[in-house]
Amino acid sequence: MSMLTFPLTPRFLDALLELADVPWCRDAFDEEFRRRGWARPDAGGETAVGWLDHWPLGEPDHSWHVVLGEYPGCSNSDDPGVACDEPACHEDSFLAFPLAYAAIDCVEAGTGLPVDPRHLWGDPLPAWATHNADATQDDFLACYTDTERLLRARLGAPLPAAPPVPSDEPERQTSWQRGNRLVSLFLDGNEANYGQDDWIGIDIRPFH
Ligand SMILES: [Zn+2]
Repeated sequence: MSMLTFPLTPRFLDALLELADVPWCRDAFDEEFRRRGWARPDAGGETAVGWLDHWPLGEPDHSWHVVLGEYPGCSNSDDPGVACDEPACHEDSFLAFPLAYAAIDCVEAGTGLPVDPRHLWGDPLPAWATHNADATQDDFLACYTDTERLLRARLGAPLPAAPPVPSDEPERQTSWQRGNRLVSLFLDGNEANYGQDDWIGIDIRPFH
């Protein structure tokens, strides 16, 4: 099967976990993304991360990306600098960093040939990614277990139970609490590609 993986370096893992300490509001994430080179000031001098979509972590089309949920902040305020701890203000607000995509038995309509990874995951493929056309399910699951080991080393024992992320019933999930955030490793169908592929990623959202 076709599999695309992204390297989870210690430095990148640090950068992800630091995001769990950021106040849950747009201004704070604009600043953090800009500081990491993931967003530029717009024409008006302000930075503006586009939520509710994929967002490139660097040059578009040549980079890793993050999947962003609803805008962070308070649903009772339009002020991008206002964060709040009310669970109702954070439903479906998250950052999900993909680590691997795998297309199992996925073929091109018409030709019946294995799907071209560029059609599923971008053209050109991100420069930091590794594509393996002959990966196995074990290779894909190894990505999950390797990442779980890294996260256990950083965050300790996972929670015995946690709310499901990023969908109602991910195939696999292991979660930790870090301050006021829930940090989760997940394996799930990729809704952005209509379930043609599965993905493994790290999800960060408020802990309730
Ligand atoms: Zn609120």
